[in-house]
Amino acid sequence: MARGGYIPARLLCDFLNVENLLSIQSQHWTEAAKVAEKALIKFKYNVDLSGMNALLVDDIVDTGESLILAKNFIIGEWKPNDVKIATLQWISPVAKLKPDFYLIEVKEWYWFQYPWTRLEDTYQFIKRLLSEEGLSKREWTLEEIIAKFKELYGVDVGLNYFKDAADLLVENSFLIRSDNKYLIKS
Ligand code: ADP
Repeated sequence: MARGGYIPARLLCDFLNVENLLSIQSQHWTEAAKVAEKALIKFKYNVDLSGMNALLVDDIVDTGESLILAKNFIIGEWKPNDVKIATLQWISPVAKLKPDFYLIEVKEWYWFQYPWTRLEDTYQFIKRLLSEEGLSKREWTLEEIIAKFKELYGVDVGLNYFKDAADLLVENSFLIRSDNKYLIKS
């Protein structure tokens, strides 16, 4: 599935010698639109998979709702002989679905950091830490942000990601840049 399954799916094509790769975007409404807490399929299109077996690939089964929706959509609209699901992680205590194939069963909920979501994750986690720590400290240098990030999350994503994430926070008007400091916009 787009976007989380894109890279694993492409790699599986290579390892399993599969030529046909389609993408389907099934996602939850994000926080901005909390009214409808439902998964939905974006950009519905129709293909004929009759006579074929489909492998639906995603990064992780968290609640599993978006995968359940995608699987039902594929069965109903694209009509393959069979659909199986493969993911990297399966968060078994919260998932409403068990993938047919998975790499890791996760028994305690955890946020996984994939190389293909590094910038958006860094952005979100910096935003979160500044929202919390920013109540008592409004001015931060990049070095201070990095040190706090490492202390709280135990991860070093590398200087370029920290810089790009901070720039994005400025671009999105969460931070204001002045000389060597970042000010949290009130
Ligand atoms: P599900 O329907 O399985 O709950 P969501 O719709 O909640 O999945 O999640 C959509 C996407 O959000 C996932 O494909 C993944 O990219 C990301 N995601 C969800 N939970 C996690 C997690 N625990 N760690 C990392 N990424 C996650």
